Amino acid sequence: MHELAIAESVVASVLEHTGGRRVAVVRLRVGRLAGVVPDALSFCFDLATTGTSLEGASLELVEEHARAHCRSCSCDFVVDDPILLCGCGSADVQLLSGQDLCVTSVEVL
Ligand SMILES: [Zn+2]
Repeated sequence: MHELAIAESVVASVLEHTGGRRVAVVRLRVGRLAGVVPDALSFCFDLATTGTSLEGASLELVEEHARAHCRSCSCDFVVDDPILLCGCGSADVQLLSGQDLCVTSVEVL
């Protein structure tokens, strides 16, 4: 499962930075087009933290709108689904953000 791989890499990188201290909260910013199902990610996070110093930590997800730039009319717009189409009707658009996922903060006990 895609979310399990993501959860495992998040847990691994948090462990790397917290050095075994108990972690209470992990905050993640997730782009709308990152292809992540928040509920599935939360479930996998619980699995991935079992037996680590992150066990029992809560995962807070902040979804971020994707943004794109239209090369035809030069406007920037918000994208909420994977169909990249500008309001002017052009599909000649470049995705600026929304595919990334990053840990924004970690609270240790
Ligand atoms: Zn346009």
